[in-house]
Amino acid sequence: MALTDRQREEIAQLLERERARLVRRLQRFAEDMGEGIETGSFSQHMAEQAAAMTERETAFLKASEEGRRLMEVDRALDRIMHQRERFGTCRQCGTDIGYERLEAIPSADLCIACKRVEEG
Ligand SMILES: [Zn+2]
Repeated sequence: MALTDRQREEIAQLLERERARLVRRLQRFAEDMGEGIETGSFSQHMAEQAAAMTERETAFLKASEEGRRLMEVDRALDRIMHQRERFGTCRQCGTDIGYERLEAIPSADLCIACKRVEEG
């Protein structure tokens, strides 16, 4: 069953909360490293801001677990806002991912079956 507007709204809130948490961690991480990374760009949606980021910032994000999670969360937020009808469906087979799975992993873009295949 496709998500209701209310469910979609709840997932969006979970994503925003997860995003805020990841941004805080990344900012702290960057400070600890003393790398002089401009973390301001992390707090904007990367889907929109990726072009404005320096190569160094992008590399930093890709290198860290939190950075990868943040990119996943950003992609999910982008889908939920700009491709409403596609959000919540598996990018591989198009089946509904299901609210319970999204509640557990809001950034999921694969159904459980496809996820298993991908993980081998
Ligand atoms: Zn699937």
